[in-house]
Amino acid sequence: MLRPHMEGAAVQHRDTDITLITPGAPIGAHTHGGRAKCLQRLARLNLPVPPTVALSFRTVQAIAAGDMPDLRALLSMLGDTALLCVRPSSEDSDWGGPRAVLNIGMSDAMCAALAERIGSAAATRLYLRFVESYSIHVARLDPDMLDDMPHAPEDALAFALRVYLDETEEEFPQDPAVQLAEVLRSMARAWDGTTARLLRQAKGAPADAGLGLVVQEMAIGLGNGESGSGVMQLVNSKSGARQITGRYLSQSQGRDALSDAKGALYLERDARGPSLEELAPDAFAELKSHLFLMREKLREEMQAEFTIENGKLHLLDGVRVARNARAAVSIAVALAEDGIITREEALMRIEPRALNELLHRQVDPEASRDVLARGVAASPGAATGKIVFSAEASQSAAARGEACVLVRRETSPEDIRGMHAAVAVLTERGGMTSHAAVIGRGIGLPCVVGASSIRFQTSARKLTAPDGRVLKEGDQITIDGTNGEVLFGQAPLLDAGHDDSFQVLMGWADDVRDIAVRANADTPMDAKMARNFNAHGIGLCRTEHMFFEEGRLRVMREMIFAGSSPDRAAALERLLPMQRDDFADLFRIMQDQPVCIRLFDPPLHEFLPSDRAGHRALAEALDLPLSTVTRRVEALSEYNPMLGMRGVRLGITVPEIYEMQVRAIFEATIKVAGEGVQIVPEIMIPLVSASREVELVKARVDSVAATVRSQTGQDFAYLLGVMVETPRAALRAGDIAPQVSFLSFGTNDLTQMTYGLSRDDAGRFMSDYVKQGVYPEDPFHTLDLDGVAELLSIGAERAREASPGITLSICGEHGGNPESIAFCRAAGFDYVSCSPFRVPVARLAAAQLAVRDKIG
Ligand code: PEP
Ligand code: MG
Repeated sequence: MLRPHMEGAAVQHRDTDITLITPGAPIGAHTHGGRAKCLQRLARLNLPVPPTVALSFRTVQAIAAGDMPDLRALLSMLGDTALLCVRPSSEDSDWGGPRAVLNIGMSDAMCAALAERIGSAAATRLYLRFVESYSIHVARLDPDMLDDMPHAPEDALAFALRVYLDETEEEFPQDPAVQLAEVLRSMARAWDGTTARLLRQAKGAPADAGLGLVVQEMAIGLGNGESGSGVMQLVNSKSGARQITGRYLSQSQGRDALSDAKGALYLERDARGPSLEELAPDAFAELKSHLFLMREKLREEMQAEFTIENGKLHLLDGVRVARNARAAVSIAVALAEDGIITREEALMRIEPRALNELLHRQVDPEASRDVLARGVAASPGAATGKIVFSAEASQSAAARGEACVLVRRETSPEDIRGMHAAVAVLTERGGMTSHAAVIGRGIGLPCVVGASSIRFQTSARKLTAPDGRVLKEGDQITIDGTNGEVLFGQAPLLDAGHDDSFQVLMGWADDVRDIAVRANADTPMDAKMARNFNAHGIGLCRTEHMFFEEGRLRVMREMIFAGSSPDRAAALERLLPMQRDDFADLFRIMQDQPVCIRLFDPPLHEFLPSDRAGHRALAEALDLPLSTVTRRVEALSEYNPMLGMRGVRLGITVPEIYEMQVRAIFEATIKVAGEGVQIVPEIMIPLVSASREVELVKARVDSVAATVRSQTGQDFAYLLGVMVETPRAALRAGDIAPQVSFLSFGTNDLTQMTYGLSRDDAGRFMSDYVKQGVYPEDPFHTLDLDGVAELLSIGAERAREASPGITLSICGEHGGNPESIAFCRAAGFDYVSCSPFRVPVARLAAAQLAVRDKIG
């Protein structure tokens, strides 16, 4: 449809940058924006695109500064009598832009001329629409002023023109060049507005992102034969399934093409009327074939915006089909399977974090949200349930089959069973690596932490939202752990949806990935999840969670209260078979994959009740005087337990616990070997700060191994490693490394200790810190490349120097974060380990890094 005399020629106005879009014109996405470039591609495919002119970023900038290009020249490139529309053309369509203005050129004279072609009512309505949109978006009149518009089109038009005159003290402009100049100026300035700038920067646009504009001759979709307008695409935007969808508004079927969408005719026949295929079979077939051609040549699923005038098709625009994450994966996989893009390109087209949308239920993005408060988005996914304030209430609700949200000021290991029973968790305190967050991500439980703008009165069983709304136990809320929002009532949710395409994409990711991904998994359920997500083994099994299981806590407490070493040994003797079974289960589930078990880490007082009633119950259970229990609890309490008697410090001072654990590991290894499962267990020592700690623990581990070997007459291998979680361990990695086979950086504690920042309390001020630019990001979420990562580099370098073949990894929460994975890969780490649900994100992020390196 490009006019013959201009076809193939790049017509560029001399002084400005006004370019008629032709197949050979000098148009680039970086200079004229994505829409202009796409229209040129459509023109190159010989598709029926109306004549269109592109204004470059430079020109639009000049317009905003008051320097208007020669519009007569521009108009001469387009049809003299045509109506025009102007649309934004930013470099990336996600960055938005001012809304399009249609029907430029409508005037008294044009209205009269059009009336002859399309009838007076339709022409008047077109004019009216233009006057309305021009008044509001260009002359910036208050839309309320047009509220009392009369019904009849002629009266409405007269009314709108009068409002325009009254408010601007000027007649409505009749000259198309004047109209166009004002439209261009208002669109150029809108792009420079603060709100528009902030919005696009939030979507990743650079501060100096440019705006191009395209001015197009309108094919208005009005006429005596079949005429109308619509959009059409070849796939479903929610599932990515191959299915023609769209909307067509016919004005020839006695329906008003300019009325609201109620008169819409769908592409396929339905209760509302005939389909486009029935109304205009040739145009439909042509449109379909254009879309297939666009898919193949533009290498993307496109949506066509079109009009039909007297049965003839015009293609106004082509935009990338809007899609959710699930559709994005199926579209990318289908394009690669059809040979249109490579597998590597398919991998690069999916934002790793977007996979969370597929792996967890989400709040329907199109639904309205009643937000009560915001906190840290600690574990993705969404769920609705009744509020409960204790782990016990959560378990009772689950037993009744009721979905509940566990609300706590913060969670502790005692809450684990309550968390398993809940559909989501909300806490007042905490950040990305607090207990609730780590467990939530581990078990795929939506979780918002650090929602400190809510007043938590857990003993009174109520919550007060910042707007004063009070919620009681039993009231329903929705937790959106993807966005960190707490919503009132039941929000509409979309189910998780990973399908065959997801598996195919993950397989391709594994083919190119060059850093392994393991999972942090503590229980058989976690381990199964890790296998489902194709993790390469377990990188961190936090054994302490096993002691909170039913029937074990009491034995654990007996061990803590043991007055003598033999009494302690007796309690541990009862824990031994339970631990052995735990490990044997994990080994069986993981088959021949590596399993790294961390020895006991938390301070012992976490296993004791914290209130008076709990102390009394414990005194009864252990048959001890209440005062003994209270005294022991007090003796174990510390001012700063995270820096106190925990990790290897317990292993050195109460060695029987570690001895029991390693014996359980070795015996489980022998047990499963008899079933044909070959495993070389990896044993990891937490919270090391001195090389001598490793020496002492290693001597004991080796001695237990020797005892088990001689007692059973069976041989087995094992690997010993150190968790680098203190800055000193990183600095002394050269002394530590020669004693062990691997170092795994525990970046949760390492971040806490490097910053001197409590991982459980930082949530209170983290958002202020990030907002004011003190930290660019929450360092518990994204590895701090300037500080903490330097310790990782120093540790890795010194460890390798002392022990070249040592295995290096990261097992803090950062292991699932794409930016942190990039650091670990560049530093030559062997694997990252993260919560099972983050494994797919990590696999894809790692694959993208490898592809990026390959393509340079
Ligand atoms: C760490 O500190 O990084 C870690 C993985 O251990 P935890 O979160 O259990 O302290
Ligand atoms: Mg730790």
